[in-house]
Amino acid sequence: MSKGKLVVVGNGMAGMRTVEELLKIAPDTYDITVFGAEPQVNYNRILLSSVLAGEKAMDDIVISPRSWYDEHGITLFTGDPVVALDAQAQTVTSAGGRVVAYDKLLLATGSNPLVPPIPGLDLPGVCSFRDIKDVETMIGAAEEHRHAVVIGGGLLGLEAAWGLKRRGMSVAVVHLMPTLMERQLDTAAGQLLQRDLDRRGIAFFTDGQTEEITGDDRVRSVRLADGREIPADLVVMAVGIRPNIALAKAAGLDANRGIVVADNMQTTDPSIFAVGECAEHRGLCFGLVAPLWDMAKVCAHHLAGGEEMLFAAPALSTRLKITGIDVFSAGALAAADEADDEITLQDAAHGTYKKLILRDGKLVGTVLYGDVADGAWYFDLMRQGADIGAIRQTMIFGQAHAETGGKSAALSVAAMSDDLQVCGCNGVSKGSICKAIAEKGLTSLDEVRAHTKASASCGSCSGMVQQILAHALGGAVVEAEPAMCKCTDHTHDEVRRSIVAQGLTTQQAVRETLNWKTEDGCAKCRPALNYYLLCAWPTDYVDDQQSRFINERAHANIQKDGTYSVVPRMWGGLTTPAELRAIADVAEKYAIPTVKVTGGQRIDLLGVKKEDLPGVWGDLNDAGMVSGHAYAKGLRTVKTCVGSEWCRFGTQDSTGLGVRLEKLLWGTWTPHKVKLAVSGCPRNCAEASIKDIGVICTEAGYDISVGGNGGIDVRVTEHLCQVKTEDEVLEYAAAFLQLYREEARYLDRTAPWLSRVGIDYCKQRVVADADGRRALYARFLFSQRHVQIDPWAERADKGIEAHEFKPLLKVG
Ligand SMILES: Cc1cc2nc3c(=O)[nH]c(=O)nc-3n(C[C@H](O)[C@H](O)[C@H](O)COP(=O)(O)OP(=O)(O)OC[C@H]3O[C@@H](n4cnc5c(N)ncnc54)[C@H](O)[C@@H]3O)c2cc1C
Repeated sequence: MSKGKLVVVGNGMAGMRTVEELLKIAPDTYDITVFGAEPQVNYNRILLSSVLAGEKAMDDIVISPRSWYDEHGITLFTGDPVVALDAQAQTVTSAGGRVVAYDKLLLATGSNPLVPPIPGLDLPGVCSFRDIKDVETMIGAAEEHRHAVVIGGGLLGLEAAWGLKRRGMSVAVVHLMPTLMERQLDTAAGQLLQRDLDRRGIAFFTDGQTEEITGDDRVRSVRLADGREIPADLVVMAVGIRPNIALAKAAGLDANRGIVVADNMQTTDPSIFAVGECAEHRGLCFGLVAPLWDMAKVCAHHLAGGEEMLFAAPALSTRLKITGIDVFSAGALAAADEADDEITLQDAAHGTYKKLILRDGKLVGTVLYGDVADGAWYFDLMRQGADIGAIRQTMIFGQAHAETGGKSAALSVAAMSDDLQVCGCNGVSKGSICKAIAEKGLTSLDEVRAHTKASASCGSCSGMVQQILAHALGGAVVEAEPAMCKCTDHTHDEVRRSIVAQGLTTQQAVRETLNWKTEDGCAKCRPALNYYLLCAWPTDYVDDQQSRFINERAHANIQKDGTYSVVPRMWGGLTTPAELRAIADVAEKYAIPTVKVTGGQRIDLLGVKKEDLPGVWGDLNDAGMVSGHAYAKGLRTVKTCVGSEWCRFGTQDSTGLGVRLEKLLWGTWTPHKVKLAVSGCPRNCAEASIKDIGVICTEAGYDISVGGNGGIDVRVTEHLCQVKTEDEVLEYAAAFLQLYREEARYLDRTAPWLSRVGIDYCKQRVVADADGRRALYARFLFSQRHVQIDPWAERADKGIEAHEFKPLLKVG
């Protein structure tokens, strides 16, 4: 049977989700062509706020890389909006002049930002907050200018304000209403929110009617109707959205506020469907993603020839994505009449507020501020229309108290319906999480994240996902991630997130902001914080030598008799007569009793007296030898065999490649020690299959495998990919290492980290997502600019100037 032609207008979240759903149920039904007005592939628009706040890079928010379109045979035209729709002839015409015929057309054109008629809107420095271009404008402005004014104190406006604040701007929010987010929050919660954001340095002008944006060649100020004037170099309009219906309207389809669709997502033309923010269903348009996921399922079902599934507007809930400010709202905000009841719990000093609205023995609305842990539970009770008579007295204190006497919230997850959307950012329901846990045998939060994407974006649903996991594992208590140390209740992941989200650039700032219990931290948290800060801010943070273990500081390891061992680096296991002579001279000069070859193919000087350490290192440095980092949480060795140059079986230059790898990766601080090996043929003389990164050369190229471990807990590497060139080995290995650097907890080796996240996750990030890999590689190279390093060619090749490196690593 020949395939039909499906054309999708709008390469955004709803349109592409529909295509994904369609491919799941009827992959061979259509030849699919997608037109996108934006130049990018489909990305997670929700996370633009996180990009602006510096918590995510653009690459992190891509949903479907170009390879995904290619794999599914989808023809994609980006940066080419459809400008005409001929419903009679069943064709669309794009701005670039492409005319494409369809059997079925899907309109998924989203919304446009609402732009009220204010003088000065066309001045440079005024933008909306809708797409990547807007975020780039804002980031650019934050680099060059000081004052930002955000017009609109709703969800988008506040997330824009926080992002700009995080980027160092002085930010004012102008809001027409007396309290913030008035559509989602009642007055009490709105005021708490304003108080907390005010404390973070954002100024508010509530009851503020914008009269004019002033300026000549760039915006200069925002003038309010009451005469107040606020200086501005950047003005962000975030006052609402309007469904994008121009195309549909011009083609004669019924449209009011949005494009009118029936319960099967069909417009008034049976060949044309509409989903997403542009659609109007039973008089309602939507501005949140939750209903779009349902629309996508229903639409795909009908495009695939089904007839049963119908769309019904779901209940909606809202969260604000500002790290450290927890807000949840769903349903009615206030009692409608005397028959309704309101239960409230307020502790302003602790910044918590809860309100429940009850009607006819059911929960119909909730507003939570500060403590939102029970948001999903309340929301589910609302959606189910559950009779709450039995828990009415205690439910304000949360699920644990209401249902299990405070013992275990996980036990009550059973009551939640399978279609409850747990992760809003990625549209993942409880049912699909449970399915993945059962089918793939998942046992940890990281594994669930890796396989379902639940809680992998903004992370606010992590607690809920953890409870579902505990329940799915038969009520077993899932090991919660432990606190970092006794100085804090925060976990490693929470601390890392806060460092980035809140722009914390010193250990003291971390301890103060996260309410550390000790003034200076302890031997456990100081090295971890030092590492996390170095990793997050490679250019700004100054490595704190005092927070390093003594072995790292002295480049020597204390031995059982109180003397030290010293290991100079030997690139790829190669040495020279001059180096050997220098080592011999040092050994004789300082009467070092033992000189031994190590398992990592270098020479260990054992029995060095403490007072001789500076002299020993000074002499070795003078001979051009640098630290082997034999005791550091960083790159240790790259072990090699002799390869094709000398070995009859060698297929490639394994020694040369090992040297290149070692010179590229040396000096990188990592969560734990890292060892590599390169074997010239599958006989694997360099034992590459038990290293953190192992490369085995073959006639066809290079097999890269990762996550191996020798020692007590031996673990064989898992295959990552095969590549053809040495340059690719460097790129893939460095990208993998950077992923590990950014995501593993301090003192996690690659093996346990890989067990948690799964090899599929690494393959996706490092192999499948080419743009993501390049971004990881770029971040790796960037982080290397500031390590103390010799100007080795490998880095200079990558555009890093030799003079940017400090000379040789000296003993500090
Ligand atoms: C900063 C920000 C934060 C948000 N946060 C949240 C949140 O926390 N929770 C939540 O639920 N929702 C949030 N949203 C809303 C959510 O992103 C939207 O509801 C969702 O993206 C809508 O999907 P859509 O496919 O309908 O529209 P879009 O994702 O906007 O996709 C529509 C696409 O169609 C393209 N297009 C339009 N006209 C044409 C044409 N003629 N030809 C070709 N292409 C065209 C557009 O350029 C766009 O790329 C947020 C939105 C923003 C901007």
